[in-house]
Amino acid sequence: MKDCVFCRIIAGEIPAAKLIETDVVLSFLDIAPVNPGHCLVVPKRHVATLLELSQDELNICIFTVQRLAGAAARATGAVGFNVLQNNGRCAGQIVPHVHFHIIPRSPDDGFKFGWREGSYAEGELEEVQRGIRKLL
Ligand code: AMP
Ligand code: ZN
Repeated sequence: MKDCVFCRIIAGEIPAAKLIETDVVLSFLDIAPVNPGHCLVVPKRHVATLLELSQDELNICIFTVQRLAGAAARATGAVGFNVLQNNGRCAGQIVPHVHFHIIPRSPDDGFKFGWREGSYAEGELEEVQRGIRKLL
């Protein structure tokens, strides 16, 4: 897709610090890292979200994420890592080409998610459970 920054990296039109490349996926360092070693895994086929990946593409992506996560953490001296995957603008997806973030983490890195602890009204949890199960 010609206006997609990740497709342009895949096509070699924009430089990137590449890490793993196969015929299905490419991984490279994120240009604006949360921490050093923050990297991205992207399928070569342009699709916007996780829901559009084939099972084979997904398998290869997640295997690549696992392989890279260990190496990125070890190489940067991190003791943990986050795997993050945003789908849709409201979920924080800026680049509309599906991708997985791997973020090496250390206890003193100062990065925090704005996580909140919500709750369900009486009966709401079961209703949500039923709604999801119906669509599986
Ligand atoms: P997201 O918010 O999940 O869409 O994340 C997109 C990520 O792509 C951000 O972390 C950006 O820093 C990263 N990014 C955007 N352009 C480039 C680029 N040319 N090379 C490497 N990473 C990029
Ligand atoms: Zn693309």
